[in-house]
Amino acid sequence: MCRVTTPGGATDVDVLVVGAGITGIYQLYRAREAGFSVQLLEAGGGVGGTWFWNRYPGARFDSESYTYGYLFSKELFDEWEWQEHFAEQPETERYLNHVVDRFDLRRHIRFGAKVTSAVYDEASGCWTVVVDDGTELRARYFVAATGVLSVPFFPDVPGRENFRGESHHTGLWPPEPVDFTGKRVAVIGTGSSGVQIIPVIAREVESLTVYQRTANWCTPLNNRPITPEEQRQLRADFVAIRETLNTSVSGFLHPVHDRATSDDSKEERAAFFEKMWNSPGFSKLTSNYTDLLLDHDANAEWCEFIAGKIRSIVKDPDTAAKLIPDHRFAEKRPPFVAGYYETYNNPNVSLVDLKQTPIVRLTEHGIETAEGVREFDIVVWATGFDFGTGALSRMGIRGRHGLALTDYWADGPKTFLGVQTAGFPNFFFPGGPHAAAGNNPRYNGDQVDFITDTLVYACEHGYDTIEVDPAAEEEWTNMIDKRASLGPFGESSYFFGTNIPGKPKRYLLNSGGRPKLFSVIAEVVETDYQAFKLSRTSGPTG
Ligand code: NAP
Repeated sequence: MCRVTTPGGATDVDVLVVGAGITGIYQLYRAREAGFSVQLLEAGGGVGGTWFWNRYPGARFDSESYTYGYLFSKELFDEWEWQEHFAEQPETERYLNHVVDRFDLRRHIRFGAKVTSAVYDEASGCWTVVVDDGTELRARYFVAATGVLSVPFFPDVPGRENFRGESHHTGLWPPEPVDFTGKRVAVIGTGSSGVQIIPVIAREVESLTVYQRTANWCTPLNNRPITPEEQRQLRADFVAIRETLNTSVSGFLHPVHDRATSDDSKEERAAFFEKMWNSPGFSKLTSNYTDLLLDHDANAEWCEFIAGKIRSIVKDPDTAAKLIPDHRFAEKRPPFVAGYYETYNNPNVSLVDLKQTPIVRLTEHGIETAEGVREFDIVVWATGFDFGTGALSRMGIRGRHGLALTDYWADGPKTFLGVQTAGFPNFFFPGGPHAAAGNNPRYNGDQVDFITDTLVYACEHGYDTIEVDPAAEEEWTNMIDKRASLGPFGESSYFFGTNIPGKPKRYLLNSGGRPKLFSVIAEVVETDYQAFKLSRTSGPTG
């Protein structure tokens, strides 16, 4: 059993985790099971992280529920019956609460505790973490599992503060239900959140106006309830499912296709695209033609297929034309929808194309564009997040010599495996920048496992200070930057940080993917953690 904190010693806790989302909860579980004393600080009033804050109507998974949940316990997998292939937010929040209680983790969590600063003390090798109520905690290891989509972004639209109706951001949704009945509602933004909320609230509102700057390639989620037979099969297949999820490149169960577009005739391609259109969630990316994301013509043919679907669903040709994107499929993260395009056939729903008529300002009662003012009771901001580094850059993190993380990362994040950065010993950030490139919990879980194994290794070898070698960090970061242009995402995607004014343009996902993560982790373990400087800062353990 590992324990580095001595009673009455310099630290309050061995491992301090921040964030009770799916990654933080798993980190808490793993560190405690390894024998460390652990505390978790959570700014919100409950567990769930992104599934706590994003409680807008229609919020749901677009990864299959049983591929998103935890795999560390067969009993947990057996006893939790997901109701739908793609669970809605309330079910996910219930699931995460169940996990926390099932494994007796709640007593380690402090809610309503927002970290305002975290400073490394070189003399003791510990972190001093301050919470917004003034509480100070000293920890040997500081693990920020603060998520990539946890800082909502409000565009700097003139007059935003002047609007006197209700305003809500999808990523900061209030706990009490918002009453849309008979209201005049505006939704700004048509990313994954916007296109999820639009069809759901359209049923309740008096009128709904969608402000779209960039149309997205939306395809059907194809959600449905999990049948009793499927429930039985999932349980019977647990070992195989876990094996596939733990080894698949994407972290999904979808099988990879074995054909390129040129292998099939035009008719066969049309039939295959129809099959893809009717397939669940991300299989449109993971199981589509092998050249779809790489070859311009293959991508264009799939886009034309989707454009045809949009034209056939949306009755007004002018609206349909506005809904057809002019970028490649997957240049921006594609959303998955239920009844989204159909919504525009409702007489109370209209679409404003901001490329033709940009927002001029918000007034006290509505939104003014070049074509005039429309008045609203509620404005929904579905305008995204400060992705990847948003939370880490707002926590007042300082490493060796008082160096601020925001200064060290002024030109974008530098990491090793997306878990550590040089000059910030004993600080880890699973599920942050350079972490995932597929089904997030699978990638982030790999990182948590690696971090926990590293803490155990250090403890067993008498070390308590772990700091990545700058050379290893440089190699990993160069790899991320070099491979960024090889993936499908374009520089207009928030994966490059370009949605936030002034943010450096750097790739924020793991462009090496899971295979690279696995191979480098294997190398680290084989070489007895040579990529890290391991040392002992405190006195002998008690
Ligand atoms: P997003 O994809 O970044 O979309 C933000 C939207 O707001 C875009 O349409 C953007 O337009 C628009 N926007 C930003 N600034 C604007 C401005 N000044 N004026 C007008 N429009 C503006 O954010 P999101 O929809 O919240 O989704 C973020 C990510 O969360 C998703 O990609 C996904 O990874 C995750 N998510 C997942 C699910 C799920 O199904 N599991 C659901 C929701 C979210 P531009 O494109 O022109 O910038």
